Amino acid sequence: MKYCSHCQSELIITIPSGDNRERYTCSVCGTIFYQNPRIIAGCIPLYKERVLLCRRAIEPRKGYWTLPAGFMENGESTVEAARRETWEEALAKVDIGNLFSICNIPRLNQVHLYYLANLPDPEFGVGAESLEVDLFCEADVPWQKLSFSTVKQSLQRFFHDRETGQKLLHHIDL
Ligand SMILES: [Zn+2]
Repeated sequence: MKYCSHCQSELIITIPSGDNRERYTCSVCGTIFYQNPRIIAGCIPLYKERVLLCRRAIEPRKGYWTLPAGFMENGESTVEAARRETWEEALAKVDIGNLFSICNIPRLNQVHLYYLANLPDPEFGVGAESLEVDLFCEADVPWQKLSFSTVKQSLQRFFHDRETGQKLLHHIDL
């Protein structure tokens, strides 16, 4: 970030009065540009005993498998974002259920949310951001080729909970 989006003047990094953190601030009009974590919303789509995974066609982690998820857009809810991302990446229409995991990644300034989701029919396809989309039972999940640790940890806990019948909201800090 270099220039003010209001007046095009150069930005400086300074601690505004009454604040305690450095912010990008316009040296001319005084606008402060706050930067906050971004939310990634996704789901764990389940059809019978199998989960729907997508192999990423884009960086980061191109070629690795992931749960459908992506950055929230303005004007939508987290559930809407999870549903939209599942459609875009896997051409699958899911019923979003309870929130399953909240993953904090302060290092990346991101919060990842995964919902439980029901895939009513085994109907899906390969969306623009995917190379492959498929259903996996626990033993067949490509555990060594998962894209992100939030995906791996959420899936591990998901299968564990299914075995034990536990119903928890998982808080995962990375
Ligand atoms: Zn300005």
